[in-house]
Amino acid sequence: MIIERRAVEPFYKNGFVLGCEETRQGVIIDPGDEVQGLLAAARQHGLSIGNILLTHAHLDHVTGVGAAKKALAVPVWLHRDDNFLYERVVEQGQMFGLRVESQPPIDRFYDLSTGIEAGKEDPLRFGRYRVKVLHTPGHCPGGVCLAVSKDGDDRHTLFVGDTLFAGSIGRTDLPGGNLETLLRSIREVLFQFPDDTVVWSGHGEQTTIGQERRTNPFLT
Ligand SMILES: [Zn+2]
Ligand SMILES: [Zn+2]
Repeated sequence: MIIERRAVEPFYKNGFVLGCEETRQGVIIDPGDEVQGLLAAARQHGLSIGNILLTHAHLDHVTGVGAAKKALAVPVWLHRDDNFLYERVVEQGQMFGLRVESQPPIDRFYDLSTGIEAGKEDPLRFGRYRVKVLHTPGHCPGGVCLAVSKDGDDRHTLFVGDTLFAGSIGRTDLPGGNLETLLRSIREVLFQFPDDTVVWSGHGEQTTIGQERRTNPFLT
């Protein structure tokens, strides 16, 4: 899988471009202030981006949605329970003393039902890769983790937003946050994955499920 990560000041939030190395189809995850870097990476790889996927709606993860949507003209996806945050992105900026533009409306809310019906196309698929959406509230009500796997391979790569970090966990003091809920999401959803599962967080470096299971001070 092609994985490109970009992060810029002030939040150093990771935005991602994922692509299928065979079909050159791809997705963008959490475009923020680094959106032009993500779009350039997609162009460099010759990727055709099919969807803009949001892990949650805190401002650092969504300030590039408008630019990405304008450049790509593809649907923007979010969990319904974070739409109240998304619609208040200007006010979120004011909380941090930042001027933030309002963003275009969400096109599609994630469907977390049992899966794709037989014969129906999976809307989040890119080439030979499938994106499974896991609801992991706690950092915010509509936080999700994206588990990406290749056809014929049962290993996953996780894009966890601000749910889990290398050596830390997401903050729970913002509107809709809850520490117990967050710990339950990590233990019951993320820790179901095997130890060698690679985890890309919304901030900082990559880690693995095993590393966090063994050494994360919030979870041991
Ligand atoms: Zn966040
Ligand atoms: Zn963040």
